Amino acid sequence: AMVVRRRTKGSGKWGRAEALVRELEEQCGTPIAKLRQVADAMEVEMHAGLASQAPTRLQMLITFVHNLPSGDEKGLYYALDLGGTNFRTLRVHLGGKEKGVVKLESEEVSIPPQLMTGSSQELFDFIAAQLAKFVSSEPEELHPPPGRQRELGFTFSFPVKQTSIASGNLIKWTKGFNIEDVVGQDVVGELTKALQRIGLDMRVAALVNDTVGTVARARFSDQDVIAGVILGTGTNAAYVESAHAIPKWQGLLPKSGEMVINMEWGNFSSSHLPLTEYDQALDADSLNPGEQIFEKIISGMYLGDIVRRVLLKMAEEADFFGDTVPPKLRIPFILRTPDMSKMHHDTTPDLKEVGKKLKDILEINNTSLKMRKIVVEVCEIVAARGARLSAAGVFGILKKIGRDKVKAGEKQKSVVALDGGLFEHYTKFRSSLESTIKVLLGDEAAETVSIEHFNDGSGIGAALLAASNSHYLGLQES
Ligand code: BGC
Ligand code: MG
Repeated sequence: AMVVRRRTKGSGKWGRAEALVRELEEQCGTPIAKLRQVADAMEVEMHAGLASQAPTRLQMLITFVHNLPSGDEKGLYYALDLGGTNFRTLRVHLGGKEKGVVKLESEEVSIPPQLMTGSSQELFDFIAAQLAKFVSSEPEELHPPPGRQRELGFTFSFPVKQTSIASGNLIKWTKGFNIEDVVGQDVVGELTKALQRIGLDMRVAALVNDTVGTVARARFSDQDVIAGVILGTGTNAAYVESAHAIPKWQGLLPKSGEMVINMEWGNFSSSHLPLTEYDQALDADSLNPGEQIFEKIISGMYLGDIVRRVLLKMAEEADFFGDTVPPKLRIPFILRTPDMSKMHHDTTPDLKEVGKKLKDILEINNTSLKMRKIVVEVCEIVAARGARLSAAGVFGILKKIGRDKVKAGEKQKSVVALDGGLFEHYTKFRSSLESTIKVLLGDEAAETVSIEHFNDGSGIGAALLAASNSHYLGLQES
């Protein structure tokens, strides 16, 4: 049972609101010692997932990506990026070592919400139609020679049990998606059927998770890249593992000796995670109760809604916004993380931006400066917890592969590639993540690890992996 300490000083309303915020702060606390426990638990779960064929908390999915880009990749490739709030089609012109990514064209549409919970055919037909439209804008000089098929990298950012580099079955949906008839199906098969229905002749050369695409994209430019992390609508990480360290892998050992592993860290959970009643309620109300617990306290889909839930409780139990509870506050997901971020970064002395957001989104008028300050405090508590836990996750990976310490005489560099809207746009989240990783590593090791943002990582990475798995390898013009 929850104990709300009532203060005697000040008015009852402020006292109770204060008490709720202090309680939130305490429950969301992530002191360094706790983050170390989280990182250790992550490492333990990584070992378990690499060993077991049976489902584990961290699935540690084998991606069939064992040859990462060398930088020599050349040619024109397409990519599809499905997994967040938006759907993107990309045309990527790769120019090898000297030229890098010569040209990138892309188109982005937001996914109609009804498609996220509709039928498989509706979703894939929508994707195929967008792609067909995009392909039709291909400049003539880029058309493939007669007899040559266009090739595509398909970034599909959900847990998939891959059966090859270009096939795999959906394990479950996450984030806002829930289309039952796709679960268990080969998503490349579904896409290919839709391409046939629309008469678009294209070959899916690689199926990749966005984290894996990010690793590939980053490796194209920097051979020290060891992991890719997405902090966007959802969250996840992939990293380069030694093939010997994957007991459940029954295939031949790849020549490179390496395999990229898609951790699906969004599904991590541990008794060390600082969870609150708000998180429990959010989880219970979600499309996937009991799952993706790490994701639900870190990622962009959820942070704004956690803040909303806290504010709602303050309205209900402390009359925080006046005698009545603002009705809009009861609407799930009405407060989005970008709006939370806007409030959190408000630098005006009277927190004008916070007032505007509360008014425009929640229809709460005439807030006082004191109220607005408390709202910012709630944003800070929720964002800092997510950022610091993400840092613990990154630290867990570095520990697993022995990159958390400087070995005597060695100064091996490690680059972690980051992408996703939360990382890119939520500045305070990003800086908290970066500084926390430094603290966890300590001064000496911190000098060898860098966090780098790779924009469009997942889409370009998928095109790169399509290139390295092309049917026409060796036939490319230089
Ligand atoms: C998915 C991952 C994905 C991540 C980031 C999660 O919900 O399960 O596959 O990489 O979101 O997009
Ligand atoms: Mg994305």
